[in-house]
Amino acid sequence: MAAAIEARSDVKGWCPGVLRPMQSGDGLIVRVRPRVGAFSLDEARALADLAGRLGNGHIDLTRRANLQIRGVEADALCELQAALGQLGLVDRDAETEAVRNVMVAPLAAAGSDVRRIAMAVEALLASDRRLLDLPTKFGLSIDEGGPVSIASERADICLRAVGDEFAVGLDGREGMRWLGTCAPDAALNVVSTAMHAFLDCAPHRRLRDLPGADLARVQAAVSPLLSKLPSFETIGGRVLGLVQNAVGIAAPFGRLEATQLCRLADLATMADARELHLSPWRTIYVTVRDAAAGRALLDGAEAIGLIVRDDDPVLRIEACPGAPDCTSSSVDARGDARRLAGLASAKGFTGSLHVSGCAKGCARSAPSDLVLVGDGGRYHLIRHATTRGPAERSVDADDLASVFPENAYG
Ligand code: SF4
Repeated sequence: MAAAIEARSDVKGWCPGVLRPMQSGDGLIVRVRPRVGAFSLDEARALADLAGRLGNGHIDLTRRANLQIRGVEADALCELQAALGQLGLVDRDAETEAVRNVMVAPLAAAGSDVRRIAMAVEALLASDRRLLDLPTKFGLSIDEGGPVSIASERADICLRAVGDEFAVGLDGREGMRWLGTCAPDAALNVVSTAMHAFLDCAPHRRLRDLPGADLARVQAAVSPLLSKLPSFETIGGRVLGLVQNAVGIAAPFGRLEATQLCRLADLATMADARELHLSPWRTIYVTVRDAAAGRALLDGAEAIGLIVRDDDPVLRIEACPGAPDCTSSSVDARGDARRLAGLASAKGFTGSLHVSGCAKGCARSAPSDLVLVGDGGRYHLIRHATTRGPAERSVDADDLASVFPENAYG
């Protein structure tokens, strides 16, 4: 299998894959896309083994519900690609892999309409060669509603179960616009029509970037296929702990170690689970036998350093890998973020926090209440802005407590 290695972390709009990994400060990043949103427990154990043997043992969960093996040396890449190919996790070519961006409701049951449609959409992306022209950031989400709905996560095309039908939404500058509903068996044709109409307009941009007239053309192509939209809500989001017949478990800053992933798969086996479902919140969901099995799984996950409660202060902090993983950084962003989590709790700070190794701000593009941006071994302190906002002052990494003024949050 040919190994195409690219050092393109500076290129906006490009994502790594198995067949086209990305160079980073700690070696190659190999992004593995699960099939239909989940890895079997055997796949998860194999991924953990490969990350430990052929990578540096660090695994990232991504905001598009994928998994990244880090620290792969160039001479280990072919072995890794071959092993992932044997697991069925490698696409025909790098182009096919790059467009397989489908997020799936993490609690959707095997055999459900959500998973059937996701499987059909992935097959379509692999078989319709024109769809290889889709931009690699173009993505879909297929949601079933409920307490961990992913419908409010941004995707170009969203299908959302509403009763026996699926609501169809297209992303635009103002956010998701829901156009109507279709029967489950019609969903694939609707998705295909929308993607082809998008390619007819502007093949190299996302739906939200289209000028109004082009977006209206895409909507006009899809709307005749849809029925009237009933009212529905798109609330939902990350829930940790027991939820319905499953558990939600997060990794601090989205980083798992290979040993943790292996242990998590073993714990899931004991709960009679079959798969680990990935989500856009860098949280893994596991369907379990019953509540007692779920509680045992949560206890085991917490014991190995994973997050199982929604009020864990680490969840309020976003942090990129920083140094030494990323060569753009002069600071240990995640190590400092962990210390900040403790300090924020002690000081009563309840706002959002973003620690970034440099101004690129990979971990979060939206504003945060408090932002620390690494530069020359120190941090610029920014408030209520993104990493590009104006700095209030500079702070040493060993003086992070000073970013929380005394008595300010009491
Ligand atoms: S934000 Fe973090 S991960 Fe992104 S380039 Fe800068 S240091 Fe690297």
